[in-house]
Amino acid sequence: MSINIEVLPRANETLNMLRNQPSVQAPGILSGRIILLELKNRYLEQTNLLPARYVNPQVGRISETGQLGSVYDKVVQRIGQETDYFQEYHEAGAFDDIFGRQLQDRKIGGVKIKENVRKLPGNGQFNNSVMFPRIKLDFEIPDSSQVKAGILSSVALTGLPPLNVGTIFHELVHRLQIPGKGAGVLDYVSYYFIGRGYWDIPLVEAQAYRTGYCNTRFSSPEEFIASLTGAKSEYSQAYDKSLYQVKQDEITVAVKSIDSLRALGYSPRDIGRVLMRYRMFNRKTGTYPAIQRLIDQAAEEANLDEAGVNKLVHVDLMERNLQRLQARLITQEELLQAVA
Ligand SMILES: [Zn+2]
Repeated sequence: MSINIEVLPRANETLNMLRNQPSVQAPGILSGRIILLELKNRYLEQTNLLPARYVNPQVGRISETGQLGSVYDKVVQRIGQETDYFQEYHEAGAFDDIFGRQLQDRKIGGVKIKENVRKLPGNGQFNNSVMFPRIKLDFEIPDSSQVKAGILSSVALTGLPPLNVGTIFHELVHRLQIPGKGAGVLDYVSYYFIGRGYWDIPLVEAQAYRTGYCNTRFSSPEEFIASLTGAKSEYSQAYDKSLYQVKQDEITVAVKSIDSLRALGYSPRDIGRVLMRYRMFNRKTGTYPAIQRLIDQAAEEANLDEAGVNKLVHVDLMERNLQRLQARLITQEELLQAVA
């Protein structure tokens, strides 16, 4: 059998294969997929159609020649057709606002964005946040052309959307963790009376960082701790004291739990809903027990044991990475053709 190295796997492709096989087959399927996906990742990583030093000048040139809109539209259309890059933006209801309207409606996923919020007195670190019912930013959203140019150059260089888009998406993910339209009574009760305090921060931040920045920002527990305690980026002083007590092992468990849920097919909205209700960390067992139960249940449906889930998490990260690498190449290709 020959394998086509250029065929991109669909989102959750491995998970869907596992769901249709008996559990004895799972280790073999996972090992085979890991080899294949590592090969594809290495291949795409080494492929470059446009050297990095040409990317920004090319984006500048298409802006000057009035081609920015048409190139951008083509890139977004192709990425949507040829990859699953936009999947989580669609699931969170954010695709049209970010990539369709470039945030010019000052809304994302039905949530209003308030820009340039006054910093809290005595704490210069208060930046972006989600305060019911709005998302607050400490920066202004650039105009539509600037957002388009920013997306094109960032995706062409790294496969990632620009940092400001990541930050806004990060805050929308937090909004999904708070009861809103469509939430049940239980969600409100749980959210307001259970688990409000520092012990839920690693978990909610793990989801917002992993989803908002495509797993790439603060990806190690050390970086994560630094972001939560050192930068104090999102919380007012009242939280600071307790943030310093956040333990590395707890953050590791939080990131692992979120990654497991995503690998097992939970969408941003699904996870947000879970976090409205179950956020308590059990210090004795070192787990989030209610979340662990959900992971175990989903793992059983995919015929996986614990070691299998760990492998699936690795596979899932590689599958997501491939979507980004492919989006990067598509963007490079369109930039190249536009200025030819
Ligand atoms: Zn956050």
